[in-house]
Amino acid sequence: MADSNQKERVGIYPGTFDPITLGHADIIRRGSKLVDRLVIGVTTNPSKNPMFDTDERLAMVKREVAAMGLSNVEVVGFNALLVKFANKTGASVILRGLRAVADFEYEYQMAGMNQQLDDDIETVFLMADVSLQPIASKLVKEIAMFGGDIGPFVSPAVKHQVDARVAETGQRGDY
Ligand code: ADP
Repeated sequence: MADSNQKERVGIYPGTFDPITLGHADIIRRGSKLVDRLVIGVTTNPSKNPMFDTDERLAMVKREVAAMGLSNVEVVGFNALLVKFANKTGASVILRGLRAVADFEYEYQMAGMNQQLDDDIETVFLMADVSLQPIASKLVKEIAMFGGDIGPFVSPAVKHQVDARVAETGQRGDY
């Protein structure tokens, strides 16, 4: 995308990734084709109480991205206003995934407010493959806690980590 006269186009894909799912991975794969460099920002200060702490989520996302073999994708932690993180990274694009209507209102508000904070940064919404669209980290955790198989929604390594965490914290229900 960048030629000698053109500035490198950098995108950021922010999220909690608690845990990273096949839906996230699909957005990363699609997004990496749209920009020269894609920086995945793993939030280190999520408002929710995460199942995995910052270091665990960072390591998990790094491992999943490495397995995807995408040379223009890097993973960093961030704890800042999104537009500030974008500026620091040199990004002109914020990538977000859009699932069904449920995501729309929050994403619409966030994109609108970020536009007011910095009008030079564009939010771009991508849709995951139809089969991966319903996947949400929150539901993956709930399914695992109730003893369901999360294999269709996450990589085998992530499944192993989530199941191990559920076993450790004894939250499994058998009904
Ligand atoms: P947040 O904590 O900000 O909601 P997440 O880590 O859950 O962040 O997700 C990061 C981004 O990935 C969000 O834009 C979210 O809508 C998107 N996303 C998550 N799962 C999917 C999916 N299955 N298909 C498309 N986009 C998704």
